[in-house]
Amino acid sequence: MTRVVLSIGSNLGDRLARLQSVVDGLGDKVIAVSPVYETDPWGLVDQAPFLNAVLIADDPAFDGQAWLRRAQEFEEAAGRVRGERWGPRSLDVDLIACYGDTEIISVENHLTLPHPLAHLRAFVMIPWLAIDPDARLTIVGGPQPVARLLAELEPADRDSVQLIDQGLELESKN
Ligand code: ATP
Ligand code: CA
Ligand code: CA
Repeated sequence: MTRVVLSIGSNLGDRLARLQSVVDGLGDKVIAVSPVYETDPWGLVDQAPFLNAVLIADDPAFDGQAWLRRAQEFEEAAGRVRGERWGPRSLDVDLIACYGDTEIISVENHLTLPHPLAHLRAFVMIPWLAIDPDARLTIVGGPQPVARLLAELEPADRDSVQLIDQGLELESKN
């Protein structure tokens, strides 16, 4: 079995529907779905706010590469056009961490695991902690509690991630 932690985000079109499309597409592979947060853009700040969430999913047959392919299929189905890095997108699906019998570590450009910027992103860590308060992220030096990594960010970074009152529905259309 492999388990993946996915960060999903959208800032174009019907943002909530874009996020829901991933939950629906994964169907019974989904183990947990975080609340949805509205977040300030990260990296390239002159664009519309995002909706972000984190999912945990299992599939006995998927390795990291298969999860990446699946993630990219969801982005294509949402009509994502590849523009500038960190720019506006209808759907972004990032693999944050992936586990088989042990954690899968990858240093390839096309698939870096765990995601090399996750520990700097409140929009990843806040939703992740909402569904797994004991989450750990492997960074240089070893696994660290996500709660501590989040606490090390600037308060303004944490404040830029706001819970909204709409959520994602598990198996809403199946
Ligand atoms: P960031 O990865 O910093 O969040 P981004 O999501 O804007 O940036 P994309 O344009 O969506 O970047 O993806 C660029 C490439 O990143 C993809 O083609 C993919 O092969 C590669 N990639 C490497 N590691 C990962 C990962 N852990 N999850 C998703 N894509 C990854
Ligand atoms: Ca991303
Ligand atoms: Ca991405």
